[in-house]
Amino acid sequence: MSDEVAKAQAAVADSEDTIFGKILRKEIPCTFIYEDDRCVAFHDINAQAPTHFLVIPRKPIPQLSKATEEDEALLGHLMLVGKKVAAEQGLGDGFRVVINDGKNGAQSVYHLHLHILGGRQMKWPPG
Ligand code: AMP
Repeated sequence: MSDEVAKAQAAVADSEDTIFGKILRKEIPCTFIYEDDRCVAFHDINAQAPTHFLVIPRKPIPQLSKATEEDEALLGHLMLVGKKVAAEQGLGDGFRVVINDGKNGAQSVYHLHLHILGGRQMKWPPG
């Protein structure tokens, strides 16, 4: 089992106090590469590609499968911010967007986030 999958399986689905909540409340340091009133973006601490950043909503939605109709515009906003920051980060040749959901999706932090990965040729299928 990979380290990431082990972490995901041990993760607790408690969105109120995740590491991303601490980042948003500035309790732990993090350099934002983008921020607005609805979301922030920052580089992943354990990059899986030459460029790997996360886009997270300020609203603590624990995971995609817990999002509701009320979140529709916010989810669209996260995607548009992801592609805008991808362009700023030089990913003009393409990139991958990933949302891990729950145990089988290998989610380890229960605060919804988009992974944006690029800067190398991606493979398919994913592991
Ligand atoms: P997931 O496994 O989809 O829940 O992704 C969580 C991601 O958060 C992983 O790729 C981690 O490397 C990343 N991560 C965890 N803590 C931090 C942190 N303090 N700063 C940046 N990225 C982090």
